[in-house]
Amino acid sequence: MKFVDGRCVTRRYSSPGGFDVLVSSQSRLYAFGDLPFPHRAPSRTSDRLTVVDVLGLGPRQRVGVIELKVLQLLDNQVVEIQGASMELKCFEVCDSTGQTALSVWDRLISTVQLGQCYTFCSLTTRKDGSRTVLTTTPSTLVTATTGVGQPSSLRQVTVVAEEIVCGPATAVKIVAKPRCPRCHAGQDQLDVKCSTHRCESNICSMLQRTPAYLVTYSGVLIVAPRDVNERSMALTNSAVMGFVKEFCVACNVHDGPALEETIMALPELVVSVNAEGLVVHFAPAMAMADCSLGDIPDAEEASTSYLLED
Ligand SMILES: [Zn+2]
Repeated sequence: MKFVDGRCVTRRYSSPGGFDVLVSSQSRLYAFGDLPFPHRAPSRTSDRLTVVDVLGLGPRQRVGVIELKVLQLLDNQVVEIQGASMELKCFEVCDSTGQTALSVWDRLISTVQLGQCYTFCSLTTRKDGSRTVLTTTPSTLVTATTGVGQPSSLRQVTVVAEEIVCGPATAVKIVAKPRCPRCHAGQDQLDVKCSTHRCESNICSMLQRTPAYLVTYSGVLIVAPRDVNERSMALTNSAVMGFVKEFCVACNVHDGPALEETIMALPELVVSVNAEGLVVHFAPAMAMADCSLGDIPDAEEASTSYLLED
């Protein structure tokens, strides 16, 4: 290749020890036959990186393939993007070379579990202060793997505190917003009793089976703990999805009112809520540790303790 009107800079964003070529709309690119200097053919594994490689990158760099172990949930948020609510979970992650953070967006959240290892394809980098962190993109693919190591000593991280609230639900609202599995357009007219539905996007307009449509949940849960005022909390998509997967395997995922009835019928709920009032997890009381002792569920205890190991 021959570049005309490109600029070489030594900012070394994409490869520590190398340099970047910046191109503008004026730059032109030509194919070139024999190169008049010694060169190396690109390696087929060149887009597979480790955490230490990532920490050496600048922002907005693509990370083709990386294997990561998910250590701990750092934060759970719902943000507005172009008028739509998107959920985001931030995890501390590592491999044997180091640790960083990974933001997991929207539909991918339910595929990631604490303590498990995954191969992520097509991530991108961001800067969080001086640290380079990772984020998923709309084209990210996640597959489970095993045997991703961790550094000999893990750095302790600040985790957004969670509180456990126990009691019966006094009111609940669950909005199940269907989305097309092909074009991801939101659907307003989907009838849960019809076996098929035509995508409402004019560009897509495919007729598909109703259960194939994806669903994004939002809503409000009000719980009345014993001897204290009732608490109103916002339901996240991942919290409702987790509840449906664990406790409503047979129910219709698009039927928000049926889910509301299921929750109201439970004698007591155990709810993990973060400082922003977002429900991170909820379950029927009998499925959890005895909450009258104020215990934190086992999974969270395990995830915090190993970060303290040396
Ligand atoms: Zn569609």
